[in-house]
Amino acid sequence: MHYHMRMSSARKQEPVLLVHGGAWAIPEDAAAAHEAGVRSALEAGYAILKRGGTALDAVEAAVTGMEDDPTFDAGRGSFLTHDGRVQLDALLMDGGRMKAGGVACVERLRNPIQAARLVLEESPHVYFVGAGAEEFARQHGMTLIDNSELVLERERERLAAAQAREAAGLADDTFSGHRDDKSPETACGAEMTSHDTVGAVALDAAGNLAAATSTGGTLNKTPGRVGDSSLIGCGCYADNEAAAVSLTGWGEPIMKLVLGKWATDHVAAGMAPETAACEAIGYLFRRLGGHGGIILLGPDGRFGMAHNTPAMAWGVATAAGLRTGLRA
Ligand code: ASP
Repeated sequence: MHYHMRMSSARKQEPVLLVHGGAWAIPEDAAAAHEAGVRSALEAGYAILKRGGTALDAVEAAVTGMEDDPTFDAGRGSFLTHDGRVQLDALLMDGGRMKAGGVACVERLRNPIQAARLVLEESPHVYFVGAGAEEFARQHGMTLIDNSELVLERERERLAAAQAREAAGLADDTFSGHRDDKSPETACGAEMTSHDTVGAVALDAAGNLAAATSTGGTLNKTPGRVGDSSLIGCGCYADNEAAAVSLTGWGEPIMKLVLGKWATDHVAAGMAPETAACEAIGYLFRRLGGHGGIILLGPDGRFGMAHNTPAMAWGVATAAGLRTGLRA
């Protein structure tokens, strides 16, 4: 019996790009910055798709833009760890070649998604963490920076406030990743938590899918904690024979349900992405009381998005134009 990998479909495909910039109760005074951030990410990524570029290049460009934007919990401006540092996780996956690259707990890279791309292209391995990931990136031409360059005063204040509430034993509207987990019963309020992780999914003219997700993780997390965002099949996944997905939200429940893969499997089994996106978020809440948001794109260009948080910053670019919003 002969086996072969499907590299791409033969038919010409209208390109599609979806991005998200986190799912939570985005306050009024942060709404414009979130919409502007997802819009410029869309513009950067869709320009690549329009001139015949790959889905992988498009998601990398879109996520790079959002890592550079301090509005989001990715790259500079990310939430701080319990000890006041920025620790970043990122993954990207090429659904045509079935290649993936991920980094976690990196502290000295401005754009972890670009390091993830280097892992995908240049390494026989798939995932690097900490100092090893930074050294791999350095050896492949990336500049290592001081962690303080990624830290904003806004985030120092946010961390201090969270830790003061924690010390006072107050019920917090900010889920602290410092704790390992919460039961569904105690998770109320988690939907109010800032979840500003960024992600993108794309379908290119050659019919290939790709996905990328990048995050600073949860506020006040214990150093070394890795969430769903950079784990294959959890916060990010792409396979031409199924779908491309990126998630945001409370990472621990998403990881335990391997929710990205769950959603793409449902598309592969024939469910419309629109339905599968809603079902995935429904499953997240029903099974573990989790909150979050999802963008999901099928190989035929149909897509869906859903969130059970009050808002999700999203954007979609197709031949019909660019759209952004704060409610799916
Ligand atoms: N899912 C991310 C994490 O748990 C957080 C987020 O989406 O903002 O690390």
